[in-house]
Amino acid sequence: MTKTALVCGAGGFIGSHLVKRLKADGFVVHGADLKYPEFDTSQADYFSIGDLRDQSFVLSLISQQFDEVYQLAADMGGAGYLFTGENDANVMASSALINLNVLGACRRADIKRILYSSSACVYPEENQRSESDPLCVEHSVYPANPDSEYGWEKLFSERIYLAHNRNHEMECRIARYHNIFGPMGTFCGGREKVPAALCRKVVEAPEGGIIEVWGDGAQTRSFLFVHECVEATVRLMRSSFVGPVNIGSEDLISINDLARMVIEISGKDLQIKNVTGPVGVRGRRSDNNLIREKLNWQPHLSLRTGMEATYRWIAAQVGQAET
Ligand code: NAD
Repeated sequence: MTKTALVCGAGGFIGSHLVKRLKADGFVVHGADLKYPEFDTSQADYFSIGDLRDQSFVLSLISQQFDEVYQLAADMGGAGYLFTGENDANVMASSALINLNVLGACRRADIKRILYSSSACVYPEENQRSESDPLCVEHSVYPANPDSEYGWEKLFSERIYLAHNRNHEMECRIARYHNIFGPMGTFCGGREKVPAALCRKVVEAPEGGIIEVWGDGAQTRSFLFVHECVEATVRLMRSSFVGPVNIGSEDLISINDLARMVIEISGKDLQIKNVTGPVGVRGRRSDNNLIREKLNWQPHLSLRTGMEATYRWIAAQVGQAET
């Protein structure tokens, strides 16, 4: 029989890629979001526009059976949105409400399989002070001390999903995403994340000019291409493993080196200027031992290849906007 999936956050970056993948797997897909995907037409068979903070909307959306429910909706952005403190109340309240509503409605409809998109932002700030050796192994999350309210909400929601597994015989799966990037992601407007922001800055910079990079540029991260994220996500959903799992890359790079890579891809002659800005922790890298062991998964695509695809896509978007 044809399988069915609901993707909450189907108008977003990862959600719109996930819908495509589920369609390719032969699913009938229902998407829900405040908005349709910004850069593409959704491939979902059905798409409900609505606010997942609104319990009555969620109850009507989840009034039928789905084989798989992916909960990716969140009040979300890059460092410029999440780490300034200005959006903390909305980020926490909106995302917590969405998770409570979706989980409650799934329980009512007797839906067992839900995948929740958590984040590397749950890890304690003190374990991420080293640029070269940050600690982000799953069990190191406690004693808890995320460096942002976004991370605290993710951790709280992880625990609600796990509690539903224990108390209501549900089969929730928890993905801790680490810096997912690729085409079709936000690249301007304040919610963009660092790979997309750097590509846009390089595209827009005049030959011989400068691009600004927040912080001293020595802060490090690891980045995962969105197609690899989607593959790991569906594997986790269909696995029997209970408990949070990192989905990320283990290849660490400094933000200045990432900027240099983008400049090289562009072929332009540009200088980097480091300026004050919100930067988050000093270092963060996915530890993939658990996902290798439990899901037999690891990423294959090089950062350079993923960044080339992302740069080309953003250059085309900026070019279109200018013509
Ligand atoms: P995104 O912002 O592109 O997608 C989130 C979607 O949720 C958006 O389309 C937004 O409109 C929707 N949404 C927000 N509030 C809503 C509401 N009240 N009702 C209905 N829809 C609502 O983000 P993304 O990068 O695709 O991330 C997807 C999930 O993965 C999020 O939960 C995010 O926290 C998590 N995550 C992403 C990354 C990353 O690097 N992209 C890293 C860690 C965790």
